[in-house]
Amino acid sequence: MALVTIAGFPCSGKTTRAKQLKEYFEQRIRSTEYNGPNLNVELIDDDISHVPRSSYDTSALEKPARASLFSNVSRSLGQDTITIVDSANYIKGYRYQMYCAAREARVRVATIHVVASPDKCAEWHEKRGECSYKPATFDNLIMRFEEPSSMVRWDSPLFTIPWDEEPPFEEIWNAILKGDKKPPPAAV
Ligand code: ADP
Ligand code: MG
Repeated sequence: MALVTIAGFPCSGKTTRAKQLKEYFEQRIRSTEYNGPNLNVELIDDDISHVPRSSYDTSALEKPARASLFSNVSRSLGQDTITIVDSANYIKGYRYQMYCAAREARVRVATIHVVASPDKCAEWHEKRGECSYKPATFDNLIMRFEEPSSMVRWDSPLFTIPWDEEPPFEEIWNAILKGDKKPPPAAV
């Protein structure tokens, strides 16, 4: 049915948002107003793809990690599933690859950019303690982040969610269910 890609800095609140979205979608699917097909909501993240935080330390480790995530995403895509990808997803080319897989599976797409300042992320990273990234890896993931753009078809429709705002849940739901949000003008 749909692929929802979460992108954001390390420790910016991606997992928090992914879980909120999953809960919201499930509640809409269960509601008596809903009369569409029976849908599952699947959350694909680094953990279930056996990708430890240390995979982001070097590109040699990151490549197979991304491949593992991608194959889980591909497997999940389908007419009866809303797939939420909760990972850094910070490489434009990687988001494009997932978009192509979604098109091939004939499912709608939406991208969620979770936004918090590097300072905020660092503060949350420090608080989280265990399971954290190496300092150099943390900085790298912020530096290399390729911001999603609503002007390219593979990031569109794009929802940008600041850390201190309520996500536009209903708009996101309508975008994946009915294709409400218009595609961008000419693709780049
Ligand atoms: P990510 O998946 O991007 O690494 P998480 O969702 O795991 O980020 O959040 C990292 C930490 O930041 C958590 O410990 C969480 O409590 C805190 N956090 C995340 N989002 C918010 C927010 N919107 N407001 C306050 N704290 C937050
Ligand atoms: Mg996370």
